[in-house]
Amino acid sequence: MIRTRFAPSPTGFLHVGSLRTALYSYLFAKKNNGQFILRIEDTDRNRIVENAVENLLKTLKWAEIEYDEGPVKNGKFGPYIQSERFDIYKKYADELLKNGHAYKCFCTAERLDEMRKTQETAHLAPMYDKKCLNLTPTEIEKNIADGIPFVIRQNIDHSRTIKIEDLIRGNVYFDCKTVDDQVLVKSDGFPTYHLANVVDDHLMEISHVIRGEEWLPSTPKHILLYEAFGWTAPLFAHIPLLLNADKTKLSKRQGDVSVEDYINKGYLKEAVINFIAFLGWNPGKGVTKEIYSMEELIQEFSLEHVHKAGAVFNLEKLDWYNWQWRKKMHIEKVEKTPELRGKLLLEIAEKYINPNFKKDEKFLERAIITIEEKILQNPTETEKLISFYFSEQKFDAALLTNEKMKVTLEIAKKVLPEAKLALENLSDFSLESIKSSLMELIKKLELSNGQVLWPIRTAITGEQFSPGAFEIIWAFGKEESIARLTNAINKL
Ligand code: GLU
Repeated sequence: MIRTRFAPSPTGFLHVGSLRTALYSYLFAKKNNGQFILRIEDTDRNRIVENAVENLLKTLKWAEIEYDEGPVKNGKFGPYIQSERFDIYKKYADELLKNGHAYKCFCTAERLDEMRKTQETAHLAPMYDKKCLNLTPTEIEKNIADGIPFVIRQNIDHSRTIKIEDLIRGNVYFDCKTVDDQVLVKSDGFPTYHLANVVDDHLMEISHVIRGEEWLPSTPKHILLYEAFGWTAPLFAHIPLLLNADKTKLSKRQGDVSVEDYINKGYLKEAVINFIAFLGWNPGKGVTKEIYSMEELIQEFSLEHVHKAGAVFNLEKLDWYNWQWRKKMHIEKVEKTPELRGKLLLEIAEKYINPNFKKDEKFLERAIITIEEKILQNPTETEKLISFYFSEQKFDAALLTNEKMKVTLEIAKKVLPEAKLALENLSDFSLESIKSSLMELIKKLELSNGQVLWPIRTAITGEQFSPGAFEIIWAFGKEESIARLTNAINKL
Protein backbone atom coordinates (compact mmCIF):
# COMPACT_ATOMS: atom_id res chain seq x y z
CA MET A 1 0.00 0.00 0.00
CA ILE A 2 1.36 3.39 -0.96
CA ARG A 3 1.22 5.80 1.96
CA THR A 4 2.55 9.34 1.76
CA ARG A 5 2.43 12.10 4.31
CA PHE A 6 2.63 15.83 4.63
CA ALA A 7 4.43 16.70 7.85
CA PRO A 8 4.37 20.46 8.40
CA SER A 9 5.65 22.28 11.44
CA PRO A 10 2.88 24.67 12.42
CA THR A 11 4.65 28.01 12.13
CA GLY A 12 1.60 30.15 11.55
CA PHE A 13 0.92 30.12 7.84
CA LEU A 14 1.23 27.70 4.96
CA HIS A 15 4.12 28.51 2.61
CA VAL A 16 3.40 28.08 -1.10
CA GLY A 17 6.33 25.64 -1.22
CA SER A 18 4.71 23.56 1.51
CA LEU A 19 1.44 23.57 -0.38
CA ARG A 20 3.32 22.11 -3.32
CA THR A 21 4.90 19.42 -1.11
CA ALA A 22 1.45 18.55 0.21
CA LEU A 23 0.00 18.55 -3.29
CA TYR A 24 2.66 16.26 -4.78
CA SER A 25 2.34 13.83 -1.86
CA TYR A 26 -1.42 13.88 -2.23
CA LEU A 27 -1.40 13.45 -6.01
CA PHE A 28 1.11 10.62 -5.83
CA ALA A 29 -0.91 8.76 -3.20
CA LYS A 30 -4.22 9.24 -5.00
CA LYS A 31 -2.81 8.33 -8.39
CA ASN A 32 -1.62 5.02 -6.90
CA ASN A 33 -4.77 4.30 -4.90
CA GLY A 34 -2.82 4.97 -1.76
CA GLN A 35 -3.38 6.98 1.38
CA PHE A 36 -2.32 10.47 2.26
CA ILE A 37 -1.58 11.29 5.88
CA LEU A 38 -1.29 14.64 7.61
CA ARG A 39 1.07 14.75 10.58
CA ILE A 40 1.74 17.83 12.64
CA GLU A 41 5.42 18.13 13.59
CA ASP A 42 5.28 20.42 16.58
CA THR A 43 8.20 19.11 18.64
CA ASP A 44 9.94 22.48 18.54
CA ARG A 45 7.90 24.17 21.22
CA ASN A 46 9.67 27.54 20.67
CA ARG A 47 8.25 27.83 17.22
CA ILE A 48 4.65 27.12 18.11
CA VAL A 49 2.18 29.76 16.97
CA GLU A 50 -1.36 29.95 18.23
CA ASN A 51 -4.06 28.75 15.83
CA ALA A 52 -1.40 27.59 13.38
CA VAL A 53 -2.88 24.09 13.15
CA GLU A 54 -6.38 25.44 12.60
CA ASN A 55 -5.09 27.72 9.85
CA LEU A 56 -3.27 24.87 8.24
CA LEU A 57 -6.32 22.62 8.23
CA LYS A 58 -8.41 25.45 6.83
CA THR A 59 -5.96 26.12 4.01
CA LEU A 60 -5.69 22.46 3.04
CA LYS A 61 -9.46 22.26 3.02
CA TRP A 62 -9.65 25.34 0.81
CA ALA A 63 -7.22 23.69 -1.61
CA GLU A 64 -9.27 20.47 -1.50
CA ILE A 65 -6.24 18.43 -0.51
CA GLU A 66 -8.04 15.91 1.58
CA TYR A 67 -6.16 13.65 3.95
CA ASP A 68 -7.17 10.11 4.89
CA GLU A 69 -5.66 10.19 8.37
CA GLY A 70 -4.56 13.09 10.52
CA PRO A 71 -5.73 15.48 13.20
CA VAL A 72 -9.51 15.50 13.57
CA LYS A 73 -9.62 12.41 11.35
CA ASN A 74 -8.03 9.74 13.44
CA GLY A 75 -6.85 6.50 11.87
CA LYS A 76 -5.19 3.45 13.31
CA PHE A 77 -1.75 5.09 13.57
CA GLY A 78 -2.73 8.12 15.65
CA PRO A 79 -2.31 10.45 17.35
CA TYR A 80 -1.09 12.46 14.36
CA ILE A 81 0.21 15.40 16.37
CA GLN A 82 3.75 14.81 17.57
CA SER A 83 3.36 16.67 20.86
CA GLU A 84 0.85 13.97 21.79
CA ARG A 85 3.38 11.21 21.09
CA PHE A 86 6.27 12.08 23.41
CA ASP A 87 6.12 8.75 25.31
CA ILE A 88 6.65 6.90 22.06
CA TYR A 89 9.81 8.85 21.19
CA LYS A 90 11.20 8.35 24.67
CA LYS A 91 10.95 4.61 24.32
CA TYR A 92 12.82 4.66 21.02
CA ALA A 93 15.50 7.06 22.30
CA ASP A 94 16.13 4.60 25.16
CA GLU A 95 16.48 1.80 22.65
CA LEU A 96 19.16 3.76 20.77
CA LEU A 97 21.01 4.48 24.02
CA LYS A 98 20.96 0.79 24.82
CA ASN A 99 22.31 -0.38 21.49
CA GLY A 100 25.02 2.29 21.29
CA HIS A 101 23.56 4.28 18.42
CA ALA A 102 23.02 7.26 20.71
CA TYR A 103 24.68 8.68 23.81
CA LYS A 104 24.10 11.26 26.48
CA CYS A 105 26.02 14.49 26.09
CA PHE A 106 26.58 16.81 29.07
CA CYS A 107 28.68 19.45 27.32
CA THR A 108 27.86 23.02 28.27
CA ALA A 109 26.74 25.65 25.77
CA GLU A 110 30.06 27.45 26.41
CA ARG A 111 32.13 24.41 25.45
CA LEU A 112 30.10 23.81 22.32
CA ASP A 113 30.44 27.45 21.39
CA GLU A 114 34.15 27.44 21.80
CA MET A 115 34.48 24.24 19.80
CA ARG A 116 32.46 25.76 16.99
CA LYS A 117 34.59 28.88 16.93
CA THR A 118 37.81 26.89 16.77
CA GLN A 119 36.41 24.80 13.93
CA GLU A 120 35.28 27.88 12.07
CA THR A 121 38.70 29.47 12.33
CA ALA A 122 40.22 26.25 10.99
CA HIS A 123 37.62 26.23 8.18
CA LEU A 124 36.22 22.93 9.37
CA ALA A 125 32.56 21.92 9.29
CA PRO A 126 31.08 22.63 12.75
CA MET A 127 30.71 19.26 14.44
CA TYR A 128 30.48 17.78 17.88
CA ASP A 129 33.73 16.00 18.80
CA LYS A 130 32.11 12.96 20.53
CA LYS A 131 33.76 13.86 23.85
CA CYS A 132 30.85 12.49 25.90
CA LEU A 133 30.85 9.21 23.99
CA ASN A 134 33.80 8.23 26.17
CA LEU A 135 32.14 8.82 29.52
CA THR A 136 32.03 5.76 31.76
CA PRO A 137 28.69 4.54 33.16
CA THR A 138 29.78 5.80 36.59
CA GLU A 139 30.56 9.28 35.22
CA ILE A 140 27.21 9.39 33.48
CA GLU A 141 25.39 8.38 36.64
CA LYS A 142 27.26 10.97 38.67
CA ASN A 143 26.45 13.74 36.19
CA ILE A 144 22.80 12.83 36.32
CA ALA A 145 22.82 12.67 40.11
CA ASP A 146 24.44 16.12 40.12
CA GLY A 147 21.55 17.41 38.03
CA ILE A 148 23.73 18.33 35.01
CA PRO A 149 21.46 18.76 32.02
CA PHE A 150 22.11 16.54 29.01
CA VAL A 151 20.99 15.96 25.45
CA ILE A 152 20.91 12.65 23.60
CA ARG A 153 23.03 12.59 20.46
CA GLN A 154 23.03 10.26 17.50
CA ASN A 155 26.30 8.32 17.34
CA ILE A 156 27.19 8.75 13.69
CA ASP A 157 29.79 6.42 12.24
CA HIS A 158 31.96 8.97 10.43
CA SER A 159 33.61 6.30 8.32
CA ARG A 160 30.41 5.50 6.46
CA THR A 161 29.23 6.65 3.05
CA ILE A 162 25.45 6.73 2.71
CA LYS A 163 23.78 6.17 -0.61
CA ILE A 164 20.29 7.57 -1.12
CA GLU A 165 18.39 6.32 -4.13
CA ASP A 166 16.26 9.39 -4.55
CA LEU A 167 13.28 8.97 -6.87
CA ILE A 168 13.85 12.42 -8.34
CA ARG A 169 17.53 13.09 -7.97
CA GLY A 170 18.85 9.57 -8.61
CA ASN A 171 21.70 8.25 -6.47
CA VAL A 172 23.06 10.75 -3.99
CA TYR A 173 26.07 9.90 -1.83
CA PHE A 174 26.91 11.41 1.54
CA ASP A 175 30.28 11.08 3.17
CA CYS A 176 29.55 10.81 6.92
CA LYS A 177 32.83 12.55 7.75
CA THR A 178 30.87 15.80 7.73
CA VAL A 179 27.63 14.51 9.25
CA ASP A 180 27.27 15.84 12.78
CA ASP A 181 26.18 13.80 15.82
CA GLN A 182 22.67 15.13 15.69
CA VAL A 183 20.82 15.98 18.89
CA LEU A 184 17.87 13.57 19.03
CA VAL A 185 16.46 14.54 22.42
CA LYS A 186 16.89 18.01 23.87
CA SER A 187 17.76 18.75 27.51
CA ASP A 188 14.08 19.36 28.29
CA GLY A 189 13.37 15.80 27.19
CA PHE A 190 11.63 16.81 23.95
CA PRO A 191 12.63 14.95 20.81
CA THR A 192 14.00 16.83 17.81
CA TYR A 193 12.53 16.67 14.34
CA HIS A 194 14.97 13.94 13.23
CA LEU A 195 14.03 11.35 15.83
CA ALA A 196 10.30 12.02 15.80
CA ASN A 197 10.16 12.12 12.02
CA VAL A 198 11.90 8.76 11.53
CA VAL A 199 9.96 7.02 14.30
CA ASP A 200 6.65 8.29 12.96
CA ASP A 201 7.34 7.58 9.31
CA HIS A 202 8.10 4.02 10.35
CA LEU A 203 5.21 3.52 12.76
CA MET A 204 2.75 5.17 10.38
CA GLU A 205 3.94 2.85 7.60
CA ILE A 206 4.88 5.64 5.23
CA SER A 207 6.10 4.14 1.96
CA HIS A 208 7.23 7.31 0.18
CA VAL A 209 8.66 10.42 1.80
CA ILE A 210 8.07 13.30 -0.61
CA ARG A 211 9.56 16.51 0.74
CA GLY A 212 11.52 19.64 -0.12
CA GLU A 213 15.11 19.47 -1.24
CA GLU A 214 16.22 21.38 1.86
CA TRP A 215 15.78 18.11 3.78
CA LEU A 216 18.20 16.15 1.61
CA PRO A 217 21.23 16.83 3.89
CA SER A 218 19.24 15.39 6.82
CA THR A 219 18.46 12.20 4.98
CA PRO A 220 21.75 10.36 5.76
CA LYS A 221 21.04 10.89 9.46
CA HIS A 222 17.59 9.45 8.92
CA ILE A 223 18.90 6.46 6.98
CA LEU A 224 21.34 5.72 9.82
CA LEU A 225 18.47 5.89 12.30
CA TYR A 226 16.40 3.41 10.29
CA GLU A 227 19.44 1.14 10.28
CA ALA A 228 19.98 1.57 14.01
CA PHE A 229 16.40 0.49 14.68
CA GLY A 230 16.66 -2.36 12.19
CA TRP A 231 13.86 -0.88 10.06
CA THR A 232 13.51 -0.61 6.30
CA ALA A 233 13.66 3.02 5.27
CA PRO A 234 10.86 4.45 3.09
CA LEU A 235 11.64 5.62 -0.44
CA PHE A 236 12.64 9.26 -0.76
CA ALA A 237 11.73 11.89 -3.32
CA HIS A 238 13.18 15.35 -2.75
CA ILE A 239 11.43 18.00 -4.78
CA PRO A 240 13.28 21.05 -6.12
CA LEU A 241 13.34 24.45 -4.46
CA LEU A 242 11.04 27.29 -5.41
CA LEU A 243 12.98 30.31 -6.63
CA ASN A 244 12.47 34.05 -7.02
CA ALA A 245 12.78 35.47 -10.54
CA ASP A 246 16.47 36.18 -9.82
CA LYS A 247 16.96 32.45 -9.04
CA THR A 248 17.51 32.99 -5.31
CA LYS A 249 15.50 30.87 -2.89
CA LEU A 250 11.90 32.07 -2.76
CA SER A 251 11.67 34.61 0.01
CA LYS A 252 9.16 36.85 1.64
CA ARG A 253 11.17 39.90 0.75
CA GLN A 254 10.42 39.49 -2.94
CA GLY A 255 6.68 38.84 -2.67
CA ASP A 256 3.97 36.92 -0.91
CA VAL A 257 4.87 33.39 0.08
CA SER A 258 1.92 32.37 2.16
CA VAL A 259 -1.03 30.62 0.58
CA GLU A 260 -3.36 32.74 2.70
CA ASP A 261 -2.11 35.88 0.92
CA TYR A 262 -3.24 34.45 -2.38
CA ILE A 263 -6.56 33.33 -0.97
CA ASN A 264 -7.12 36.84 0.37
CA LYS A 265 -6.28 38.33 -2.99
CA GLY A 266 -9.10 36.28 -4.46
CA TYR A 267 -7.17 33.77 -6.54
CA LEU A 268 -9.23 30.72 -7.45
CA LYS A 269 -8.12 27.52 -5.76
CA GLU A 270 -8.25 25.74 -9.11
CA ALA A 271 -5.77 28.25 -10.52
CA VAL A 272 -3.46 28.11 -7.51
CA ILE A 273 -3.38 24.31 -7.54
CA ASN A 274 -2.88 24.17 -11.30
CA PHE A 275 -0.06 26.72 -11.07
CA ILE A 276 1.61 25.07 -8.07
CA ALA A 277 1.43 21.64 -9.72
CA PHE A 278 3.38 22.95 -12.70
CA LEU A 279 6.11 24.46 -10.53
CA GLY A 280 8.63 21.67 -10.93
CA TRP A 281 6.48 19.13 -12.76
CA ASN A 282 5.13 18.64 -16.27
CA PRO A 283 2.73 16.12 -17.75
CA GLY A 284 5.32 14.82 -20.21
CA LYS A 285 7.17 15.72 -23.38
CA GLY A 286 5.05 17.20 -26.11
CA VAL A 287 1.95 17.66 -23.98
CA THR A 288 0.78 21.23 -24.52
CA LYS A 289 -2.29 21.06 -22.31
CA GLU A 290 -1.80 23.34 -19.32
CA ILE A 291 -5.19 23.57 -17.67
CA TYR A 292 -5.72 20.68 -15.30
CA SER A 293 -8.33 20.12 -12.63
CA MET A 294 -7.37 18.28 -9.45
CA GLU A 295 -8.93 15.12 -10.90
CA GLU A 296 -6.88 15.44 -14.06
CA LEU A 297 -3.71 16.10 -12.08
CA ILE A 298 -4.30 12.91 -10.12
CA GLN A 299 -4.62 11.02 -13.40
CA GLU A 300 -1.45 12.47 -14.88
CA PHE A 301 0.88 12.86 -11.93
CA SER A 302 4.11 10.91 -11.72
CA LEU A 303 7.37 11.48 -9.90
CA GLU A 304 9.34 10.79 -13.09
CA HIS A 305 8.19 14.11 -14.46
CA VAL A 306 9.24 16.13 -11.44
CA HIS A 307 12.23 18.27 -12.40
CA LYS A 308 15.58 18.30 -10.66
CA ALA A 309 16.22 22.02 -11.14
CA GLY A 310 14.60 24.70 -9.01
CA ALA A 311 11.32 26.20 -10.25
CA VAL A 312 10.81 29.94 -10.61
CA PHE A 313 7.72 31.23 -8.88
CA ASN A 314 6.35 33.39 -11.68
CA LEU A 315 3.40 35.53 -10.62
CA GLU A 316 2.48 36.43 -14.17
CA LYS A 317 1.96 32.77 -14.82
CA LEU A 318 -0.30 32.52 -11.78
CA ASP A 319 -2.34 35.42 -13.14
CA TRP A 320 -2.56 33.62 -16.45
CA TYR A 321 -3.84 30.44 -14.78
CA ASN A 322 -6.30 32.46 -12.79
CA TRP A 323 -7.64 34.11 -15.92
CA GLN A 324 -7.86 30.78 -17.76
CA TRP A 325 -9.75 29.23 -14.89
CA ARG A 326 -12.12 32.14 -14.51
CA LYS A 327 -12.84 31.99 -18.19
CA LYS A 328 -13.32 28.24 -18.15
CA MET A 329 -15.75 28.47 -15.25
CA HIS A 330 -17.51 31.33 -16.85
CA ILE A 331 -17.95 29.47 -20.12
CA GLU A 332 -19.24 26.41 -18.26
CA LYS A 333 -21.72 28.58 -16.44
CA VAL A 334 -22.88 30.27 -19.61
CA GLU A 335 -23.17 26.92 -21.33
CA LYS A 336 -25.54 25.83 -18.60
CA THR A 337 -27.56 29.00 -19.02
CA PRO A 338 -27.43 29.71 -22.75
CA GLU A 339 -30.01 32.45 -22.48
CA LEU A 340 -27.36 34.51 -20.72
CA ARG A 341 -25.04 34.42 -23.68
CA GLY A 342 -27.91 34.81 -26.13
CA LYS A 343 -28.98 37.96 -24.38
CA LEU A 344 -25.50 39.33 -24.31
CA LEU A 345 -24.92 38.60 -27.98
CA LEU A 346 -28.08 40.36 -28.96
CA GLU A 347 -27.35 43.40 -26.87
CA ILE A 348 -23.88 43.73 -28.26
CA ALA A 349 -24.96 43.16 -31.81
CA GLU A 350 -27.57 45.88 -31.52
CA LYS A 351 -25.55 48.38 -29.62
CA TYR A 352 -21.98 48.18 -30.66
CA ILE A 353 -21.63 46.64 -34.06
CA ASN A 354 -21.18 49.04 -36.87
CA PRO A 355 -23.84 47.98 -39.43
CA ASN A 356 -21.35 48.45 -42.26
CA PHE A 357 -19.02 46.03 -40.67
CA LYS A 358 -20.47 42.66 -41.56
CA LYS A 359 -19.32 39.75 -39.49
CA ASP A 360 -20.61 36.27 -39.18
CA GLU A 361 -22.26 34.95 -36.09
CA LYS A 362 -19.48 32.49 -35.31
CA PHE A 363 -17.02 35.34 -35.21
CA LEU A 364 -19.28 37.29 -32.93
CA GLU A 365 -19.56 34.36 -30.58
CA ARG A 366 -15.81 33.78 -30.47
CA ALA A 367 -15.17 37.45 -29.86
CA ILE A 368 -17.66 37.42 -27.01
CA ILE A 369 -16.07 34.37 -25.41
CA THR A 370 -12.78 36.21 -25.12
CA ILE A 371 -14.30 39.14 -23.28
CA GLU A 372 -17.72 38.25 -21.98
CA GLU A 373 -16.64 37.57 -18.46
CA LYS A 374 -15.17 41.06 -18.18
CA ILE A 375 -18.30 42.48 -19.76
CA LEU A 376 -20.59 40.67 -17.35
CA GLN A 377 -18.51 41.88 -14.44
CA ASN A 378 -18.42 45.41 -15.68
CA PRO A 379 -21.06 46.12 -18.34
CA THR A 380 -20.19 49.80 -18.61
CA GLU A 381 -16.82 48.80 -20.06
CA THR A 382 -18.40 46.91 -22.93
CA GLU A 383 -17.73 49.38 -25.65
CA LYS A 384 -14.12 49.86 -24.65
CA LEU A 385 -13.55 46.13 -24.50
CA ILE A 386 -15.22 45.14 -27.69
CA SER A 387 -14.85 47.95 -30.18
CA PHE A 388 -11.57 46.79 -31.73
CA TYR A 389 -13.26 43.63 -32.95
CA PHE A 390 -15.77 45.61 -34.98
CA SER A 391 -13.88 48.62 -36.22
CA GLU A 392 -11.37 49.20 -38.98
CA GLN A 393 -7.87 48.14 -38.09
CA LYS A 394 -5.89 50.90 -36.45
CA PHE A 395 -2.16 51.12 -36.91
CA ASP A 396 0.38 52.76 -34.68
CA ALA A 397 4.00 51.64 -35.10
CA ALA A 398 4.91 52.89 -31.63
CA LEU A 399 2.36 50.55 -30.09
CA LEU A 400 4.17 47.55 -31.54
CA THR A 401 7.22 48.27 -29.40
CA ASN A 402 7.45 47.69 -25.68
CA GLU A 403 10.37 48.76 -23.61
CA LYS A 404 9.66 46.57 -20.62
CA MET A 405 9.30 43.46 -22.74
CA LYS A 406 12.30 44.50 -24.88
CA VAL A 407 10.31 44.64 -28.09
CA THR A 408 12.01 46.96 -30.59
CA LEU A 409 10.77 47.89 -34.05
CA GLU A 410 13.43 45.60 -35.51
CA ILE A 411 12.04 42.72 -33.55
CA ALA A 412 8.49 43.54 -34.61
CA LYS A 413 9.63 43.63 -38.25
CA LYS A 414 11.18 40.22 -37.87
CA VAL A 415 8.31 38.66 -35.93
CA LEU A 416 5.24 39.72 -37.94
CA PRO A 417 6.12 38.05 -41.28
CA GLU A 418 7.14 34.89 -39.41
CA ALA A 419 3.84 34.90 -37.54
CA LYS A 420 1.94 35.41 -40.75
CA LEU A 421 3.70 32.43 -42.30
CA ALA A 422 3.03 30.27 -39.24
CA LEU A 423 -0.68 31.08 -39.34
CA GLU A 424 -0.88 30.51 -43.09
CA ASN A 425 0.51 27.03 -42.57
CA LEU A 426 -2.06 26.20 -39.96
CA SER A 427 -4.97 24.08 -41.14
CA ASP A 428 -6.54 23.52 -37.74
CA PHE A 429 -7.38 26.97 -36.40
CA SER A 430 -8.36 25.93 -32.90
CA LEU A 431 -7.14 27.91 -29.90
CA GLU A 432 -4.83 25.05 -28.89
CA SER A 433 -3.20 24.72 -32.27
CA ILE A 434 -2.75 28.50 -32.67
CA LYS A 435 -1.09 28.48 -29.31
CA SER A 436 1.27 25.61 -30.02
CA SER A 437 2.25 26.99 -33.42
CA LEU A 438 3.14 30.39 -31.95
CA MET A 439 4.92 28.79 -29.02
CA GLU A 440 7.00 26.91 -31.55
CA LEU A 441 7.73 30.12 -33.36
CA ILE A 442 8.93 31.66 -30.10
CA LYS A 443 11.33 28.79 -29.65
CA LYS A 444 12.52 28.99 -33.21
CA LEU A 445 13.17 32.74 -33.07
CA GLU A 446 14.86 32.38 -29.69
CA LEU A 447 12.94 35.33 -28.33
CA SER A 448 10.85 35.69 -25.19
CA ASN A 449 7.08 35.13 -25.21
CA GLY A 450 6.47 38.87 -24.89
CA GLN A 451 8.84 39.75 -27.73
CA VAL A 452 6.81 37.63 -30.11
CA LEU A 453 3.28 37.89 -28.75
CA TRP A 454 3.23 41.62 -28.02
CA PRO A 455 3.85 42.84 -31.60
CA ILE A 456 1.46 40.23 -33.02
CA ARG A 457 -1.34 41.20 -30.68
CA THR A 458 -0.93 44.96 -30.98
CA ALA A 459 -0.58 44.74 -34.78
CA ILE A 460 -3.87 42.86 -35.06
CA THR A 461 -5.89 44.76 -32.47
CA GLY A 462 -4.33 48.23 -32.56
CA GLU A 463 -4.94 48.26 -28.82
CA GLN A 464 -2.62 48.40 -25.86
CA PHE A 465 -4.99 46.25 -23.79
CA SER A 466 -7.00 43.35 -25.14
CA PRO A 467 -7.38 39.62 -24.62
CA GLY A 468 -4.18 37.66 -25.34
CA ALA A 469 -2.65 37.04 -28.76
CA PHE A 470 -3.86 33.43 -29.11
CA GLU A 471 -7.40 34.37 -28.23
CA ILE A 472 -7.77 37.34 -30.53
CA ILE A 473 -6.27 35.38 -33.44
CA TRP A 474 -8.70 32.58 -32.73
CA ALA A 475 -11.61 35.02 -32.51
CA PHE A 476 -10.75 36.91 -35.72
CA GLY A 477 -10.16 33.65 -37.54
CA LYS A 478 -7.50 32.77 -40.07
CA GLU A 479 -8.36 35.06 -42.96
CA GLU A 480 -8.85 38.24 -40.96
CA SER A 481 -5.83 37.64 -38.71
CA ILE A 482 -3.57 37.15 -41.72
CA ALA A 483 -5.07 40.17 -43.48
CA ARG A 484 -4.43 42.33 -40.44
CA LEU A 485 -0.88 41.09 -40.09
CA THR A 486 -0.29 41.81 -43.78
CA ASN A 487 -1.60 45.37 -43.37
CA ALA A 488 0.66 45.96 -40.44
CA ILE A 489 3.69 44.49 -42.25
CA ASN A 490 3.06 46.78 -45.23
CA LYS A 491 2.90 49.84 -43.05
CA LEU A 492 6.00 49.07 -41.00
N1 GLU B 1 8.45 19.08 9.72
C1 GLU B 1 9.25 19.19 8.53
C2 GLU B 1 8.87 20.49 7.84
O1 GLU B 1 8.45 21.37 8.50
C3 GLU B 1 8.96 17.99 7.66
C4 GLU B 1 10.09 17.59 6.77
C5 GLU B 1 9.82 16.20 6.21
O2 GLU B 1 8.88 16.11 5.41
O3 GLU B 1 10.49 15.28 6.59
O4 GLU B 1 8.99 20.70 6.69
